[in-house]
Amino acid sequence: MLPASIQVLQRGWLSSNGILLAGREGVTLVDSGYGDHAPQTLALLDHALAGRPLARLVNTHCHSDHIGGNRAVQARHGCRTTIPAGEAPLIDAWDEEALILGFADQRAERFGYDDTLAAGEVVRMGEHEWQAIAAPAHDPHALMFWSPEERVLIAGDALWEDGFGVIFPALFGDTHALAQTRATLDTIARLAPRAVIPGHGAAFDRVVPALERAYGRLEGFERDLSRHARHAVKVMIVFALLQKRRMPIATLPAYCASIGILQRINREFLGLTPEAMAAWLVEDLVRARAVAQEDGDLVPLIAA
Ligand SMILES: [Zn+2]
Repeated sequence: MLPASIQVLQRGWLSSNGILLAGREGVTLVDSGYGDHAPQTLALLDHALAGRPLARLVNTHCHSDHIGGNRAVQARHGCRTTIPAGEAPLIDAWDEEALILGFADQRAERFGYDDTLAAGEVVRMGEHEWQAIAAPAHDPHALMFWSPEERVLIAGDALWEDGFGVIFPALFGDTHALAQTRATLDTIARLAPRAVIPGHGAAFDRVVPALERAYGRLEGFERDLSRHARHAVKVMIVFALLQKRRMPIATLPAYCASIGILQRINREFLGLTPEAMAAWLVEDLVRARAVAQEDGDLVPLIAA
């Protein structure tokens, strides 16, 4: 499905995929996983590079599961680092709320970058020229990378085989965010990729059904934004569990009441007491088989 020069280091849900693009000008890595997985990221990279140097690291967007390994990869390889232009002020200021880091109980080691890429620019990665394409609104500044020659799209969290990343701006009062998400899906549909490399999960070539599922989900959120708020809270809890591995159920109300993003979504959309929020989360996530109860703890049932 993919050219031999492109290799996807497929991860679970705590760490985004790493995409290696090899060419005459060196090897480029797109996205670096979650910080806790940095040793695993370095080992996967070493194995895949097989002694070749890593020339460049490029990020699709600056969320913890895509930039968490940046510092470690830079320290090991001394590679040039490129981020989306819109993320630069947030990275310069290390804005833990806008980057959805401490605000969401997520972490990434602070890193610097060498240059930025803006939508419309073309970047050589591996054997191909890739067009940077704006991909709001999971992250308002996110980029996708498109190879017209190969008709392959590196989509980040704008499109997965089954869904897309939480539309955070829509939960923080941005009334254009759902329309932007629809426009991003329209952009992907117009490109008609032969294959999509998502930020999470395997590369896929059944792009039309994936788009249909994504539009279907988006329509549900367009009808009722509180539905997206409930989805987002569940995603945040599962992500926290993947990182912590287990959490005593008795501590979940206090956790919900202490994490900024959960407080904010609850205040705007749900209006639940911390106890009611915790009880709803446990019931819903257990029923969806996303988590299990084990000796009074919640444990995740999906791969970290
Ligand atoms: Zn993301």
